[in-house]
Amino acid sequence: MAAVPAFSPNPDVVIVGAGLAGLPIAWELLRRGATVRMVDRGRPGEGTSRVAAGMLAPITEVEPDDPVHLTLGQLARERWPGYVDGLRAATGHAIAIRTHGTLAVARDRDEAEALDRFRAICDRFGLATERLMPSAARKREPALAPTLRLALEIPDDAAVDPRTVTAALAAAVVAAGGTIESGCEVRGLVLDGGRAVGVERADGTTVRAGAVVIAGGAESARLAGVPDHARVPVRPVKGQLLMLRDPAGPGMVERVLRFGPGYLVPRDDGRYVLGATTEERGFDRTVTAWAVHDLLRDGSELVPGVLDLELVETLVGWRPTSPDGLPVVGPARDIDGLWWATGQHRNGVLFASITGALLADALTGDRTLPGRYGAIDPLAVVDPRRFASVTLDRDDPPARPTGPADDVRAPRKEDHAR
Ligand SMILES: Cc1cc2nc3c(=O)[nH]c(=O)nc-3n(C[C@H](O)[C@H](O)[C@H](O)COP(=O)(O)OP(=O)(O)OC[C@H]3O[C@@H](n4cnc5c(N)ncnc54)[C@H](O)[C@@H]3O)c2cc1C
Repeated sequence: MAAVPAFSPNPDVVIVGAGLAGLPIAWELLRRGATVRMVDRGRPGEGTSRVAAGMLAPITEVEPDDPVHLTLGQLARERWPGYVDGLRAATGHAIAIRTHGTLAVARDRDEAEALDRFRAICDRFGLATERLMPSAARKREPALAPTLRLALEIPDDAAVDPRTVTAALAAAVVAAGGTIESGCEVRGLVLDGGRAVGVERADGTTVRAGAVVIAGGAESARLAGVPDHARVPVRPVKGQLLMLRDPAGPGMVERVLRFGPGYLVPRDDGRYVLGATTEERGFDRTVTAWAVHDLLRDGSELVPGVLDLELVETLVGWRPTSPDGLPVVGPARDIDGLWWATGQHRNGVLFASITGALLADALTGDRTLPGRYGAIDPLAVVDPRRFASVTLDRDDPPARPTGPADDVRAPRKEDHAR
């Protein structure tokens, strides 16, 4: 553990960012006896983690032709039931894992061929799938359009509501004695003799700690005060999605439905997540009319009943994305006391079940994750030092605080530009 004297008023660890990266780390470190302070400009779980669709989908989200990613995803998926049990025991919060699997659907010949190629890859990696003709698929999901061409059932994928997960994690952190400082912008890292010793708040006060973990999502790499050679090349990949609600309650669709780049993810309470765009637009938070249009057009082509649902939220998030698409969790290059926890890209919910252990294993040197899982060493594949140093464009404006008021607004005319 970090070298902080027992009588120090400072926490052992300060964590910037209380999302699905920071919260699991805080909880894990607290359970290992550290003192932890989290600092976030908003409330816990109100960044991109609030936007996520919640798929625990190591097969369909991760692309099975990337064996490293797939294996890490499978480790995370395997750990979810135990993780949820632990959270329930610690907080009383019950998190439902929907285990209805995924139904990947083809709407035309090109998509059907792509689905067969995807199935061949799954076969090669021994992943369970079932090929379904349209009538069989519609027997399982009667809301599907009759124009369906082919479907592939992937039974091992699952889903959770990420908002219930962040709420449970925040409660677990507090119950374990951690402090979450909300509404507090962090201006930069504080270094002393080349070592990270804390962070500076926007009001100029500092939080000193034995170790600093930057878990600021897509914004992690632009925190001021971090020397370029220690930065990580994480960028925002924008995603827009819609939250729909069936006033009649749940049941229109049970499985996660995938189509081309899109998906429809059912929640237990009758809400449906219709997603998502993938856009390289930097730190842009605009909800665009074209995205709302395209998502509804594609979703309703697959499930016509989508158009009868209420549109309750339009949401934008920034996937924190590294060049190889893998998480960036572990020590910074050449700066003692500085740790990164970002880069979860499209899988920050899935990886939440191992992110805490990945960082805590590396920070404490006390290994709880297997040294070998399949063909990978989980800690090695996420080590931030695999990247060379980066220089970032500092001209990006700082992000505004996130929250419901920010995320929900009607599309505007200027959003038309793609
Ligand atoms: C449209 C969309 C759909 C997705 N669907 C899925 C899915 O189905 N399954 C899945 O596994 N993943 C999904 N993801 C990915 C997932 O949402 C992310 O990987 C995950 O939420 C990242 O968590 P995080 O904690 O790193 O970031 P965030 O949740 O963004 O948390 C970072 C926190 O840091 C704080 N912060 C940053 N900088 C500062 C600062 N300077 N001072 C103070 N606070 C700061 C922010 O306020 C924020 O609360 C999706 C993402 C998007 C965009």
